[in-house]
Amino acid sequence: MSDAAEALVEAAGDGAAPRRTFELEDTGFLEVPKRWRRFYRHWGGPDDELGPNEVVCPVCKVVIRSHRELRPGDKVYCMPCMSRMVVVARPDGRLEAEVIY
Ligand SMILES: [Zn+2]
Repeated sequence: MSDAAEALVEAAGDGAAPRRTFELEDTGFLEVPKRWRRFYRHWGGPDDELGPNEVVCPVCKVVIRSHRELRPGDKVYCMPCMSRMVVVARPDGRLEAEVIY
């Protein structure tokens, strides 16, 4: 996983509307090496409003953050628990991550 590659996805285009991009700052998430910290944050529970670039890892309940808006079908990786996931849309339109086995 490379953050440089991730940042280039929007420029490459994927046939759909352009995605919003987000500046990520270090969240103080100490469970992963420093260069990856901005891609994760602790989840505050059901009242914690997620951004369009965030999904909760269903395994360890850490919030995974992306430089760009997430869409169904995107693959995300949870470094804290080493799970690979795909982003899916729930019936209410919110995004959720499903573990790929
Ligand atoms: Zn996880």
